[in-house]
Amino acid sequence: MSRHAHGQPAGLTRNQALVHRALAEAEGPLSAYTILDRLRGEGLRAPLQVYRALEKLVERGLVHRLESLNAFVACSHPETAVHDATAFAICDKCGTVSELADARLARRLATLAGEAGYTLDRSTVELRGLCRACRPAAG
Ligand SMILES: [Zn+2]
Ligand SMILES: [Zn+2]
Repeated sequence: MSRHAHGQPAGLTRNQALVHRALAEAEGPLSAYTILDRLRGEGLRAPLQVYRALEKLVERGLVHRLESLNAFVACSHPETAVHDATAFAICDKCGTVSELADARLARRLATLAGEAGYTLDRSTVELRGLCRACRPAAG
């Protein structure tokens, strides 16, 4: 039993399903080129095939793009997530990524954008630091 027990989302093309599975099975974020490398055995050859699949998966909220790493992660709660604002904590040492959902953050960002005269379409907040495992013990 994999730790991603919810299985494959419905309605994906073959390439989208392959890319989604590669990300869901990955230990951490993957770049588009790493995804391509892992899927060569499945017949994917061109970066464009991976980019197109990623674009659709990101649109559907099944995958998130981490700008600061130029990499992608599978959404950790696609069934429940509200993705107006998505926050990630990223460990600088081991690369562990945790997706954080917080409705208050989403509302606050929408308010901030509104005060600046914008409507908030989407936002991804990336919090960089050290995870619990990598942090030196206190004392
Ligand atoms: Zn998500
Ligand atoms: Zn770490």
